[in-house]
Amino acid sequence: MTIDLRSDTVTKPTPEMLQAMFHAKVGDDVFEDDPTVKALEQKSAALFGKEAALFCPSGTMTNQIALKVHTQAGDEIICHELSHIYRYEGGGAAFNSGASVRLLPGARGRIKANQIKENINPDDIHYPRTSLVVIENTSNKGGGSCYELKDLKEIRQLCKEYGLKLHLDGARIFNAIVEKGYTSGQIGELFDSLSICLSKGLGAPVGSVLIGSKDFIRQARRVRKVFGGGMRQAGYLAAAGIYALDHHVERLEEDHRKARILGNTLQMQTFVEEVIPVETNILFFKLTDQFKDQDFLKMLESRGMKAVGLGPQLIRMVTHLDFSDQMLNESIKILNSLS
Ligand SMILES: *Cc1c(COP(=O)(O)O)cnc(C)c1O
Repeated sequence: MTIDLRSDTVTKPTPEMLQAMFHAKVGDDVFEDDPTVKALEQKSAALFGKEAALFCPSGTMTNQIALKVHTQAGDEIICHELSHIYRYEGGGAAFNSGASVRLLPGARGRIKANQIKENINPDDIHYPRTSLVVIENTSNKGGGSCYELKDLKEIRQLCKEYGLKLHLDGARIFNAIVEKGYTSGQIGELFDSLSICLSKGLGAPVGSVLIGSKDFIRQARRVRKVFGGGMRQAGYLAAAGIYALDHHVERLEEDHRKARILGNTLQMQTFVEEVIPVETNILFFKLTDQFKDQDFLKMLESRGMKAVGLGPQLIRMVTHLDFSDQMLNESIKILNSLS
């Protein structure tokens, strides 16, 4: 048994999810003929109180389509310096959209309205035109941290005042929703567009959904085709997404509980300098100099556990649908045996 905590993307479809996929009604979605893709798109839009949605192969694609639709070449995007759109999408903002990024610092991947305000460029030909703000909730590199609804509302208000578009990288928005107790409707009304991932904590094999107004999604559909993301009988994948939305949202609490327990276990180890407080399903900790990070990861792997290094002496573990209680107990034993 390998306990794979590298990411919540490592899950395999459950037998029930596979059944849902097997029985999906499909058609050619580039001709907009796939009823299951349409059903997923309608369901996702309704969940966030929006008009329309677009099923895409990945969260990188949904984010990059949003950047492309919301900006013109030469524009500037404001986001956190740790954000996925800047760090982990291969420079896509520049590559696809010709946009520059204004990177803001902030505790645990979060930024605030007053900070954004200070970084909006004046209307002057010397400066790139600030046109878009991107928020990540939960923040991946911030350690699965969540925004307070109040802070999001302030950012919405500011964007309205300054005529900026506001996009949510909500790869793990359901983790935040379950943890903070706000609703998807409350989140939806704050953003011009939202990207949600079905292939992270929700446990679907593939897929993300981009959500927004009818007009926004009409433009997004064109960009998706240009990016090579028009899929044919994608209903088999969409069926997994529908199943995930129906059955795998509430249970995210389980993942959060397991991450907290792992965090408490790590806290007690001699090889751990600091555990970043666990908010959802992502757990970051810093190693003391007892082990070098790469050696530590190899040692873990030799005992049947996988994690990833995401900085000097910084290790990440992510809990998920395929991380059982039995695996949790086994993990605790393994970690206790290393001190
Ligand atoms: C995983 C992730 C994405 C999208 O990643 P894909 O692997 O392209 O689906 C986007 N944003 C965040 C914060 C993520 O963690």
